[in-house]
Amino acid sequence: MHFEIKYGKNLPKELKNIFKKAIDKYSEIIPTWCHVIYVKHEEPDEDGSPAHIVVQEKYREATITLSTTILSEEPKERIDRIILHELIHIAIDPLATVAQKIINKAIENDKLKVWAEGQLEEKEEAVIQDLLRIFKKYPPS
Ligand SMILES: [Zn+2]
Repeated sequence: MHFEIKYGKNLPKELKNIFKKAIDKYSEIIPTWCHVIYVKHEEPDEDGSPAHIVVQEKYREATITLSTTILSEEPKERIDRIILHELIHIAIDPLATVAQKIINKAIENDKLKVWAEGQLEEKEEAVIQDLLRIFKKYPPS
């Protein structure tokens, strides 16, 4: 693999194994600029999402947080798809970051800025879900 994975000490073994399997399967998605992926394990956010990611292209790293509730996801294959969703975020982050920079620079009207950011987030998530569907139909060998 062209990147390193650093697991948090509190990550349950079962979850670590699920993540390892997923990253082996989907490692080609990770762009070469990403040198390190940190995997953290924390209480879910206020929105209760099972996972989230922070990508910092300029530091060549991404931090995936798998929530303490993720292991209760059913069916179990859903965890694999949640992880894949987060990994795709890494691949499309440069585009999302540029779009955010354009919004910041070009839009002065606060209301319009909030709307544009909402659109960006919604479309980014939708594109990822579309790509997930393609991966489900044509899984990597
Ligand atoms: Zn997402």
